[in-house]
Amino acid sequence: MPTNVRNSDEKINLDQLLIRHLDLSTHSGIRTGGKADLAAYPSNFEELRALLAFATEQNLPVTVLGGGTNSLISDDGIAGLTILCSHLTRRHVQGEMFCVRCGLALDKAIDLAIEDGLSGLELLGGIPGTVGGAIRGNSGANKVQIADVLYYVDYMTFDGKLHRMQTHLDEFTYRHSPFSDRDDVIIYEAGFRLLPTLQTSEARKRKDGAKKERKKSGQYDNPSIGCIFKNPQGQHAGSLIDSLNLKGYTVGGAQVSNRHANMIINSNGKATSTDVKLLIDYIKAQVFAHTKISLEEEIRYLGRW
Ligand SMILES: Cc1cc2nc3c(=O)[nH]c(=O)nc-3n(C[C@H](O)[C@H](O)[C@H](O)COP(=O)(O)OP(=O)(O)OC[C@H]3O[C@@H](n4cnc5c(N)ncnc54)[C@H](O)[C@@H]3O)c2cc1C
Repeated sequence: MPTNVRNSDEKINLDQLLIRHLDLSTHSGIRTGGKADLAAYPSNFEELRALLAFATEQNLPVTVLGGGTNSLISDDGIAGLTILCSHLTRRHVQGEMFCVRCGLALDKAIDLAIEDGLSGLELLGGIPGTVGGAIRGNSGANKVQIADVLYYVDYMTFDGKLHRMQTHLDEFTYRHSPFSDRDDVIIYEAGFRLLPTLQTSEARKRKDGAKKERKKSGQYDNPSIGCIFKNPQGQHAGSLIDSLNLKGYTVGGAQVSNRHANMIINSNGKATSTDVKLLIDYIKAQVFAHTKISLEEEIRYLGRW
Protein backbone atom coordinates (compact mmCIF):
# COMPACT_ATOMS: atom_id res chain seq x y z
CA MET A 1 0.00 0.00 0.00
CA PRO A 2 1.50 3.43 -0.85
CA THR A 3 1.95 5.94 1.95
CA ASN A 4 0.48 9.46 2.03
CA VAL A 5 3.85 11.04 2.62
CA ARG A 6 5.81 12.81 -0.10
CA ASN A 7 9.52 13.51 -0.12
CA SER A 8 10.74 17.06 -0.50
CA ASP A 9 14.11 18.57 -1.35
CA GLU A 10 13.71 21.29 1.24
CA LYS A 11 16.99 21.85 3.15
CA ILE A 12 16.74 21.18 6.85
CA ASN A 13 18.74 23.31 9.27
CA LEU A 14 19.68 20.82 11.97
CA ASP A 15 21.27 23.50 14.16
CA GLN A 16 17.86 25.06 14.55
CA LEU A 17 16.25 21.73 15.39
CA LEU A 18 18.69 20.21 17.85
CA ILE A 19 18.46 21.09 21.54
CA ARG A 20 21.23 20.15 23.97
CA HIS A 21 20.57 18.93 27.51
CA LEU A 22 16.80 19.25 27.39
CA ASP A 23 15.15 18.61 30.76
CA LEU A 24 12.82 15.66 30.21
CA SER A 25 11.08 15.72 33.59
CA THR A 26 8.59 18.18 32.10
CA HIS A 27 7.91 15.64 29.34
CA SER A 28 7.20 12.86 31.80
CA GLY A 29 3.73 12.02 33.13
CA ILE A 30 5.22 11.52 36.60
CA ARG A 31 7.48 14.59 36.33
CA THR A 32 10.74 12.76 36.97
CA GLY A 33 13.85 11.97 34.93
CA GLY A 34 17.03 13.63 33.72
CA LYS A 35 18.06 15.33 30.51
CA ALA A 36 18.30 14.32 26.89
CA ASP A 37 21.85 14.66 25.59
CA LEU A 38 20.25 15.92 22.38
CA ALA A 39 16.58 16.38 21.59
CA ALA A 40 14.44 17.63 18.73
CA TYR A 41 10.80 18.27 17.91
CA PRO A 42 10.43 17.43 14.21
CA SER A 43 7.26 18.84 12.74
CA ASN A 44 7.25 17.01 9.42
CA PHE A 45 8.56 14.02 7.53
CA GLU A 46 11.61 15.80 6.09
CA GLU A 47 12.78 17.02 9.49
CA LEU A 48 12.31 13.58 10.99
CA ARG A 49 14.27 11.94 8.22
CA ALA A 50 17.08 14.50 8.46
CA LEU A 51 17.32 13.94 12.22
CA LEU A 52 17.52 10.18 11.79
CA ALA A 53 20.21 10.57 9.11
CA PHE A 54 22.19 12.80 11.48
CA ALA A 55 21.89 10.22 14.30
CA THR A 56 23.07 7.45 11.99
CA GLU A 57 25.97 9.53 10.75
CA GLN A 58 27.03 10.40 14.31
CA ASN A 59 26.36 6.87 15.55
CA LEU A 60 23.89 8.12 18.15
CA PRO A 61 21.20 5.94 19.70
CA VAL A 62 17.66 7.24 19.04
CA THR A 63 14.82 7.26 21.56
CA VAL A 64 11.24 8.20 20.70
CA LEU A 65 9.08 9.97 23.24
CA GLY A 66 5.35 10.66 22.94
CA GLY A 67 3.52 12.10 25.93
CA GLY A 68 5.76 10.30 28.44
CA THR A 69 2.66 8.95 30.19
CA ASN A 70 3.73 5.31 30.09
CA SER A 71 7.51 5.70 30.39
CA LEU A 72 9.94 6.05 33.25
CA ILE A 73 12.87 8.22 32.16
CA SER A 74 16.15 7.58 33.96
CA ASP A 75 17.44 10.27 36.33
CA ASP A 76 20.70 9.95 34.38
CA GLY A 77 18.87 11.06 31.26
CA ILE A 78 18.79 9.66 27.75
CA ALA A 79 21.92 9.18 25.65
CA GLY A 80 22.02 10.17 21.99
CA LEU A 81 19.07 11.79 20.25
CA THR A 82 15.58 11.91 21.74
CA ILE A 83 12.84 12.55 19.19
CA LEU A 84 9.88 14.31 20.77
CA CYS A 85 6.73 13.71 18.74
CA SER A 86 4.55 16.51 20.04
CA HIS A 87 4.86 18.68 16.91
CA LEU A 88 3.77 15.88 14.56
CA THR A 89 0.08 16.54 14.90
CA ARG A 90 -1.59 16.88 11.48
CA ARG A 91 -4.74 15.00 10.66
CA HIS A 92 -6.87 14.56 7.58
CA VAL A 93 -9.85 12.51 6.53
CA GLN A 94 -10.07 10.19 3.51
CA GLY A 95 -13.62 8.93 3.25
CA GLU A 96 -14.21 6.95 6.45
CA MET A 97 -10.51 6.92 7.26
CA PHE A 98 -9.28 9.23 9.97
CA CYS A 99 -5.55 9.75 9.37
CA VAL A 100 -3.46 11.29 12.11
CA ARG A 101 0.20 11.89 12.89
CA CYS A 102 1.76 10.20 15.88
CA GLY A 103 2.26 13.20 18.17
CA LEU A 104 -1.35 14.32 18.45
CA ALA A 105 -2.76 13.67 21.91
CA LEU A 106 -5.12 10.69 21.66
CA ASP A 107 -7.82 12.56 23.58
CA LYS A 108 -7.61 15.48 21.13
CA ALA A 109 -7.62 13.07 18.17
CA ILE A 110 -10.91 11.63 19.42
CA ASP A 111 -12.40 15.14 19.64
CA LEU A 112 -11.28 15.91 16.09
CA ALA A 113 -12.68 12.62 14.75
CA ILE A 114 -16.06 13.47 16.26
CA GLU A 115 -15.80 16.96 14.74
CA ASP A 116 -15.19 15.23 11.40
CA GLY A 117 -18.36 13.14 11.91
CA LEU A 118 -16.49 9.89 12.60
CA SER A 119 -17.11 7.62 15.54
CA GLY A 120 -15.36 4.61 17.09
CA LEU A 121 -12.65 5.91 19.41
CA GLU A 122 -14.82 7.55 22.07
CA LEU A 123 -14.46 4.95 24.81
CA LEU A 124 -10.73 5.63 24.85
CA GLY A 125 -11.49 9.23 25.85
CA GLY A 126 -9.25 10.60 28.58
CA ILE A 127 -6.32 8.20 28.11
CA PRO A 128 -3.32 10.53 28.39
CA GLY A 129 -0.51 10.45 25.83
CA THR A 130 -0.21 10.46 22.08
CA VAL A 131 -1.59 8.44 19.20
CA GLY A 132 1.88 6.93 18.56
CA GLY A 133 2.35 5.83 22.17
CA ALA A 134 -1.15 4.35 22.24
CA ILE A 135 -0.51 2.30 19.10
CA ARG A 136 2.84 1.06 20.29
CA GLY A 137 1.33 -0.23 23.56
CA ASN A 138 -2.10 -1.07 22.11
CA SER A 139 -3.76 1.12 24.70
CA GLY A 140 -7.23 0.23 25.78
CA ALA A 141 -10.08 0.97 28.15
CA ASN A 142 -13.72 0.07 28.59
CA LYS A 143 -13.22 -3.22 26.69
CA VAL A 144 -11.97 -1.35 23.62
CA GLN A 145 -8.36 -1.39 22.38
CA ILE A 146 -6.94 1.07 19.86
CA ALA A 147 -6.16 -1.80 17.46
CA ASP A 148 -9.92 -2.47 17.06
CA VAL A 149 -10.28 0.46 14.64
CA LEU A 150 -6.72 0.75 13.36
CA TYR A 151 -6.37 0.21 9.60
CA TYR A 152 -2.83 1.17 8.69
CA VAL A 153 0.34 2.48 10.31
CA ASP A 154 3.04 4.41 8.44
CA TYR A 155 6.28 3.97 10.32
CA MET A 156 9.83 5.04 9.66
CA THR A 157 12.75 2.79 10.35
CA PHE A 158 15.78 4.58 11.71
CA ASP A 159 17.45 4.24 8.30
CA GLY A 160 14.93 6.89 7.11
CA LYS A 161 12.74 4.53 5.09
CA LEU A 162 9.00 4.87 5.38
CA HIS A 163 6.85 1.73 5.43
CA ARG A 164 3.15 1.08 5.55
CA MET A 165 1.73 -1.76 7.61
CA GLN A 166 -1.85 -2.69 7.00
CA THR A 167 -2.81 -3.85 10.46
CA HIS A 168 -4.46 -7.12 11.42
CA LEU A 169 -6.24 -7.38 14.72
CA ASP A 170 -4.69 -10.74 15.55
CA GLU A 171 -1.23 -9.15 15.60
CA PHE A 172 -2.27 -7.01 18.57
CA THR A 173 -2.79 -8.45 22.02
CA TYR A 174 -3.29 -7.02 25.50
CA ARG A 175 -0.97 -3.96 25.73
CA HIS A 176 1.15 -5.35 22.90
CA SER A 177 1.50 -4.42 19.22
CA PRO A 178 3.88 -5.42 16.42
CA PHE A 179 5.84 -2.26 17.42
CA SER A 180 6.19 -3.05 21.12
CA ASP A 181 9.40 -5.02 20.73
CA ARG A 182 11.01 -2.77 18.12
CA ASP A 183 13.36 -0.01 19.13
CA ASP A 184 14.29 0.88 15.55
CA VAL A 185 11.06 2.48 14.37
CA ILE A 186 8.99 5.58 14.82
CA ILE A 187 5.28 5.34 14.18
CA TYR A 188 4.66 8.37 11.95
CA GLU A 189 1.00 8.28 10.96
CA ALA A 190 -1.97 6.02 11.51
CA GLY A 191 -5.25 5.52 9.73
CA PHE A 192 -8.34 4.56 11.71
CA ARG A 193 -11.35 3.12 9.96
CA LEU A 194 -14.24 4.81 11.77
CA LEU A 195 -17.99 4.95 11.31
CA PRO A 196 -19.55 8.03 9.76
CA THR A 197 -22.12 9.44 12.15
CA LEU A 198 -24.59 12.28 12.14
CA GLN A 199 -25.12 11.74 15.87
CA THR A 200 -22.00 13.64 16.87
CA SER A 201 -23.57 14.85 20.11
CA GLU A 202 -24.09 11.20 21.15
CA ALA A 203 -20.48 10.41 20.30
CA ARG A 204 -19.35 13.44 22.28
CA LYS A 205 -21.40 12.32 25.27
CA ARG A 206 -19.76 8.87 25.15
CA LYS A 207 -16.31 10.40 24.97
CA ASP A 208 -16.92 12.99 27.69
CA GLY A 209 -18.51 10.27 29.86
CA ALA A 210 -15.44 8.05 29.59
CA LYS A 211 -13.17 10.95 30.52
CA LYS A 212 -15.41 12.06 33.39
CA GLU A 213 -15.24 8.58 34.94
CA ARG A 214 -11.47 8.82 34.97
CA LYS A 215 -11.59 12.25 36.53
CA LYS A 216 -14.03 11.05 39.18
CA SER A 217 -11.75 8.16 40.09
CA GLY A 218 -8.91 10.60 40.79
CA GLN A 219 -6.60 9.39 38.00
CA TYR A 220 -5.53 12.91 37.13
CA ASP A 221 -5.02 14.17 40.67
CA ASN A 222 -1.30 13.43 40.86
CA PRO A 223 1.52 13.01 38.35
CA SER A 224 1.78 9.34 37.32
CA ILE A 225 2.56 7.07 34.40
CA GLY A 226 -0.68 5.11 34.62
CA CYS A 227 -0.76 1.42 35.44
CA ILE A 228 2.72 0.20 36.24
CA PHE A 229 2.06 -3.51 35.70
CA LYS A 230 0.14 -5.55 33.17
CA ASN A 231 -2.65 -7.65 34.59
CA PRO A 232 -1.43 -11.23 34.91
CA GLN A 233 -3.68 -13.84 33.23
CA GLY A 234 -7.00 -13.97 35.09
CA GLN A 235 -5.83 -11.55 37.81
CA HIS A 236 -5.75 -7.82 38.46
CA ALA A 237 -2.33 -6.44 39.31
CA GLY A 238 -4.02 -3.73 41.41
CA SER A 239 -5.95 -6.29 43.51
CA LEU A 240 -2.79 -8.32 44.13
CA ILE A 241 -0.94 -5.21 45.30
CA ASP A 242 -3.89 -4.03 47.37
CA SER A 243 -4.22 -7.45 49.03
CA LEU A 244 -0.72 -6.88 50.47
CA ASN A 245 -1.82 -3.52 51.92
CA LEU A 246 0.68 -1.63 49.83
CA LYS A 247 -1.56 1.34 49.04
CA GLY A 248 0.20 4.44 50.34
CA TYR A 249 3.56 2.64 50.63
CA THR A 250 6.33 5.12 49.90
CA VAL A 251 9.93 5.09 48.71
CA GLY A 252 11.42 8.59 48.76
CA GLY A 253 8.85 10.76 46.97
CA ALA A 254 7.20 7.85 45.12
CA GLN A 255 4.00 6.44 46.55
CA VAL A 256 1.62 3.61 45.69
CA SER A 257 -1.59 5.52 44.98
CA ASN A 258 -4.18 5.25 47.72
CA ARG A 259 -6.89 5.04 45.08
CA HIS A 260 -5.30 2.73 42.48
CA ALA A 261 -2.84 0.18 43.82
CA ASN A 262 -1.43 -0.35 40.31
CA MET A 263 -0.42 3.31 40.02
CA ILE A 264 2.58 5.07 41.52
CA ILE A 265 2.26 8.78 42.08
CA ASN A 266 4.66 11.64 42.63
CA SER A 267 2.47 13.04 45.38
CA ASN A 268 4.69 15.86 46.64
CA GLY A 269 6.53 16.58 43.39
CA LYS A 270 9.82 15.43 44.94
CA ALA A 271 10.03 11.87 43.61
CA THR A 272 12.90 10.79 41.41
CA SER A 273 12.77 8.06 38.80
CA THR A 274 15.10 6.07 41.03
CA ASP A 275 12.50 6.24 43.84
CA VAL A 276 9.85 4.99 41.41
CA LYS A 277 12.06 2.13 40.19
CA LEU A 278 12.92 1.07 43.75
CA LEU A 279 9.22 1.06 44.61
CA ILE A 280 8.44 -1.00 41.50
CA ASP A 281 11.11 -3.53 42.48
CA TYR A 282 9.76 -3.67 46.03
CA ILE A 283 6.19 -4.29 44.84
CA LYS A 284 7.34 -7.03 42.48
CA ALA A 285 9.33 -8.73 45.23
CA GLN A 286 6.42 -8.54 47.70
CA VAL A 287 3.87 -9.85 45.22
CA PHE A 288 6.16 -12.70 44.22
CA ALA A 289 6.99 -13.60 47.82
CA HIS A 290 3.30 -13.84 48.73
CA THR A 291 1.70 -15.18 45.55
CA LYS A 292 4.53 -16.60 43.39
CA ILE A 293 3.22 -14.35 40.60
CA SER A 294 5.82 -12.34 38.66
CA LEU A 295 4.36 -8.98 37.74
CA GLU A 296 5.48 -7.64 34.39
CA GLU A 297 5.82 -3.91 33.77
CA GLU A 298 3.43 -2.22 31.36
CA ILE A 299 5.55 0.92 31.51
CA ARG A 300 8.75 1.34 29.51
CA TYR A 301 12.12 2.29 30.94
CA LEU A 302 13.80 4.94 28.80
CA GLY A 303 17.37 6.16 29.04
CA ARG A 304 20.40 5.11 31.09
CA TRP A 305 19.11 2.44 33.44
C1 LIG B 1 -3.66 8.81 34.55
C2 LIG B 1 -3.31 7.80 33.48
C3 LIG B 1 -4.27 6.91 33.03
C4 LIG B 1 -3.96 5.96 32.05
N1 LIG B 1 -4.94 5.11 31.62
C5 LIG B 1 -4.65 4.20 30.65
C6 LIG B 1 -5.66 3.31 30.16
O1 LIG B 1 -6.81 3.33 30.58
N2 LIG B 1 -5.31 2.42 29.19
C7 LIG B 1 -4.04 2.38 28.69
O2 LIG B 1 -3.80 1.55 27.80
N3 LIG B 1 -3.08 3.20 29.13
C8 LIG B 1 -3.34 4.11 30.09
N4 LIG B 1 -2.35 4.95 30.55
C9 LIG B 1 -0.98 4.83 30.04
C10 LIG B 1 -0.65 5.78 28.87
O3 LIG B 1 -1.46 6.90 28.90
C11 LIG B 1 -0.84 5.08 27.52
O4 LIG B 1 -0.08 3.91 27.47
C12 LIG B 1 -0.45 6.02 26.38
O5 LIG B 1 -0.94 5.48 25.20
C13 LIG B 1 1.04 6.24 26.27
O6 LIG B 1 1.26 7.22 25.28
P1 LIG B 1 2.50 8.21 25.35
O7 LIG B 1 2.51 9.00 24.11
O8 LIG B 1 2.50 8.97 26.61
O9 LIG B 1 3.69 7.16 25.34
P2 LIG B 1 5.16 7.37 25.91
O10 LIG B 1 5.16 7.14 27.38
O11 LIG B 1 5.75 8.63 25.41
O12 LIG B 1 5.90 6.15 25.20
C14 LIG B 1 5.56 4.82 25.50
C15 LIG B 1 6.45 3.91 24.64
O13 LIG B 1 6.09 4.10 23.27
C16 LIG B 1 7.20 4.60 22.53
N5 LIG B 1 6.66 5.57 21.58
C17 LIG B 1 5.98 6.71 21.86
N6 LIG B 1 5.62 7.31 20.71
C18 LIG B 1 6.09 6.55 19.71
C19 LIG B 1 6.07 6.64 18.28
N7 LIG B 1 5.48 7.66 17.63
N8 LIG B 1 6.67 5.65 17.57
C20 LIG B 1 7.29 4.62 18.17
N9 LIG B 1 7.35 4.47 19.51
C21 LIG B 1 6.76 5.43 20.26
C22 LIG B 1 8.18 5.17 23.54
O14 LIG B 1 9.52 5.05 23.07
C23 LIG B 1 7.93 4.26 24.73
O15 LIG B 1 8.66 3.06 24.57
C24 LIG B 1 -2.65 5.91 31.53
C25 LIG B 1 -1.68 6.82 31.98
C26 LIG B 1 -2.00 7.76 32.95
C27 LIG B 1 -0.94 8.71 33.42
